[in-house]
Amino acid sequence: MSRVMRATRLYGPNDLRVEEVGVPELGPHEVLIRVRVDGLCPTGVHAVERGVVWGEPGVGFPGHEFAGDVVAVGPHVEGVGVGDRVVGELLIKCGRCYYCRSGRSNLCRNSRWVGYFSWAEYVKTYDYVTYRIPEGVTYEAAAFTEPLSCCLNAVGVANISPGDDVLVIGSGPMGLLIAQLARWARGARVILSDVLDSRLSHARRLGFKDLVNPLREDVQGRVRELTDGLGASAVIVTVGDTRVQEEALGMVRPGGTVVFFAGVHGVRESPVRVNSNFIHYGEVVVTGAFDKTSEQFYRALKLISIGTVDVEALITHRFPLEEVGRAMEVFRGREGLKIMIYP
Ligand SMILES: [Zn+2]
Ligand SMILES: [Zn+2]
Repeated sequence: MSRVMRATRLYGPNDLRVEEVGVPELGPHEVLIRVRVDGLCPTGVHAVERGVVWGEPGVGFPGHEFAGDVVAVGPHVEGVGVGDRVVGELLIKCGRCYYCRSGRSNLCRNSRWVGYFSWAEYVKTYDYVTYRIPEGVTYEAAAFTEPLSCCLNAVGVANISPGDDVLVIGSGPMGLLIAQLARWARGARVILSDVLDSRLSHARRLGFKDLVNPLREDVQGRVRELTDGLGASAVIVTVGDTRVQEEALGMVRPGGTVVFFAGVHGVRESPVRVNSNFIHYGEVVVTGAFDKTSEQFYRALKLISIGTVDVEALITHRFPLEEVGRAMEVFRGREGLKIMIYP
């Protein structure tokens, strides 16, 4: 096997270059994976725009939604071997803090990145966060495990019961994954909103009927109309915009939950105005959803293999690693939905 590989490296804001770098060296419990495909993630794009690498050495940054083949294993690796098709986690949790020990490792205070990311020919991670891809699941579908696991976390904190009315604000790839989970894994009726008609058309093709474009319609009015005047039982905001977050609070019913799924990028603080009396008298829960646990990662891959969620239908663009710049342009132009990179 070659000692060098092609990988992205970030040199500053929007200065992402594809270079020849060394293949990662393996520790005793680490697994080397030949990356077949990797999804482009909005959080990664924002980090590239700001010129911020998460952890060192940052080779292959910002890829972290990969699927590939195991090509080498460290001497103490168990449960996974050369030739296995796998997905894996690259953000490692400590396993010892209060959150890890109480089943909420997504909030781990000591989490750290492996340091090698998957916009590269090879990536490495630990054996215990490597998951075998079930037979019949393509690399492309499996690469959705990471984003879908974050969506599974969002649907969990939204506390959805069968028959609930869930409003998903933003019908991009994450919004459409969340909508499918709410509909097919939780049995809710889902209303989707987006300012782009092309995204609402995708939602329609996935089987959703209650679609609203806030540029043309009064979303709050439509939601009330569809919910016997109650408002949505859960509102999940996939747009990182404080104005939209404020609006979401006007669309939830008393006893309902508002979930801020997307962070507001590029600012330390993101204040929103809330009507505290509505929250008090209506017992409204306002919460966030961040990252995922290993359990959610496992369950997300399972849901993909069962076919509960149609992930491949979300892919609209495919680029070789050398064309990551073009991929970013397509992302910024919001021309499509999910963009895949092939190292
Ligand atoms: Zn991501
Ligand atoms: Zn921890």
